[in-house]
Amino acid sequence: MKSNYILLFVFALLILNSCKTNLLSTSSTSFFSDEELKLIYEQDSSQAMRVWKITNKEDSIFLRKTSQEVAFNPTDTTIHYFVHRLFKTVRNPNSLGVGIAAPQVGINKRIIWVKRFDKVKEEMPFEVYINPKIIKYSDEVKETMEGCLSIPDRREKVIRPDKITIEYQTLDGKLHQEIIDGFTSVIFQHEIDHLDGILYLDHLKNE
Ligand SMILES: [Zn+2]
Repeated sequence: MKSNYILLFVFALLILNSCKTNLLSTSSTSFFSDEELKLIYEQDSSQAMRVWKITNKEDSIFLRKTSQEVAFNPTDTTIHYFVHRLFKTVRNPNSLGVGIAAPQVGINKRIIWVKRFDKVKEEMPFEVYINPKIIKYSDEVKETMEGCLSIPDRREKVIRPDKITIEYQTLDGKLHQEIIDGFTSVIFQHEIDHLDGILYLDHLKNE
């Protein structure tokens, strides 16, 4: 009888120990999928990634997917490596833009870069946002000319709400809320659309 208790105790210890290892391994491994990790680490962090385009069938299917929320640990080196490569992509002369979303380089995660035209005093910096979402839209709309790195050789006028309230996380994991208007608001709406598989073409009346 006594030896049964001892066995049970050892068994319980073993279970506890395996739980601990599992917890450790999930917090130290990245939330990116194996396929995504392959794309991210394919090249040096200073290198741009390939921009996925609607003119390629496989790319266009991927661009229509909804991206996953990012449950990240600010100390995770992979997210820093990836956002750096995503930045290099939007600043690359071959794919120069004012904003980019992770799915545009084949990464199914809610991460975007936006050029802050509204931060004139800070010389309009590019900033990265994790899990950005629009929580409020203004009734006033306006028309702006838009183009997209994933839609080659096209530019069209798109009507969108003028002012938005957004919520997002920064790379340190902190949650922020901000009211954005003007052209920067257009970029935010365009990039956040990408995270839901929406392209600016979907906002055109005749498309
Ligand atoms: Zn776009």
